[in-house]
Amino acid sequence: MKTWNPAPVPTLPGHAERPRIFDDSRLEKVQLPAGGDRASLYSCGITPYDATHIGHAFTYLVADTLQRVWRDAGLEVVTAMNSTDVDDPLLERAKRDGVDWRELAASQHELFRDDMSALRILPPDSWVAVTDHIQPAAEAVAKLLETGAAYRLDGDVYFDSRASDELGALSQTDRETMLALSAERGGDPDRAGKRDPLDPKLWHGPVDGEPSWSTVLGEGRPGWHIECTVIARDTLGLPFTATLGGIDLKFPHQEFQAQHAHALGQPFSDARLCAGAVAYEGAKMSKSLGNLVKVSELLSDGVDPAAIRLALLGHAWHEDWEWTDAELVDAQERLARWREWARLAPSNEGYTDGDTVMDWLRVTLGDDLNTPAAIQAVDHAVASFRADSLAVDAIDALLGIDLR
Ligand SMILES: [Zn+2]
Repeated sequence: MKTWNPAPVPTLPGHAERPRIFDDSRLEKVQLPAGGDRASLYSCGITPYDATHIGHAFTYLVADTLQRVWRDAGLEVVTAMNSTDVDDPLLERAKRDGVDWRELAASQHELFRDDMSALRILPPDSWVAVTDHIQPAAEAVAKLLETGAAYRLDGDVYFDSRASDELGALSQTDRETMLALSAERGGDPDRAGKRDPLDPKLWHGPVDGEPSWSTVLGEGRPGWHIECTVIARDTLGLPFTATLGGIDLKFPHQEFQAQHAHALGQPFSDARLCAGAVAYEGAKMSKSLGNLVKVSELLSDGVDPAAIRLALLGHAWHEDWEWTDAELVDAQERLARWREWARLAPSNEGYTDGDTVMDWLRVTLGDDLNTPAAIQAVDHAVASFRADSLAVDAIDALLGIDLR
């Protein structure tokens, strides 16, 4: 799909070290990538309805920051993302609102592009709609049926969890928790006839009134996890460096993405990154609760997108946190201070202080993308030193905040 135009990223002198990032499958910080000169990232994209709330924006800002840090480390960076543009919740929403599901998805994609662009989030190299990638997904499911890693059940196809390599190990989840999360997050553990309650659906057989495609498997559409497995494989090649999603994707989605790839004969990603959940008014921001703070609504209220970005950067990427209006006010004030500091910058001489800001940003972000510490470093510089153009470039290149 068409993405959005990337904001320019200044190139800084020299290179940072490659970063150490918290990997949710090892539960520790690891150097990413471990070797080679290429870094690749797959981000699970939106289901296009109720775009783009602050929780989404937080996750894609993590992808953006990681890309900036990788580029600054001199790595070749390749990124991909999907859009789950055919899925039960989307179809239900379209039906509720009396709109065509394709029109709903298209309008939400447009909104998402505008929001990402306003927040200066770097676009993925490939943004692939599931509806544009049905045949490869069907072929992958056919292969799993052939090898015995999948089975048919009344027109649907399920993954046989017994084909998994230590199910739950990647997401550090025990069986009882997996059963509960499966029921909560799109699975159907109670369906009769499954070999294991945890087996996820690889293929939805045709249902009257719902979209379906004609494929090697017959009519139908792919399941949630296999879509991402196949899109990541076809855009990045396997294995790639890291997969990223919100913490609620840790199980079952990230677990089964990897298990499907394994059953197809290849390892999936070296690391699994789970961005923290964002709450609002005391509960996790969610479509079901309706407590969504949307980027487009803040923008139409006249909020500076750079202030939204700065407020999001104020939180460690891996932790859960709560959005408050007070925080946005703080970010607006900080942005005004930083801009005033940058405005007084001499054109481009005397890089001495600028080297310091750039080095501080490289050190803080290289340690698990510690954006709160990076912000403190800039605050300290703003309070203590004169700005120069390299400092301003470093803040733009690494934090994506353009102070000019
Ligand atoms: Zn995904």
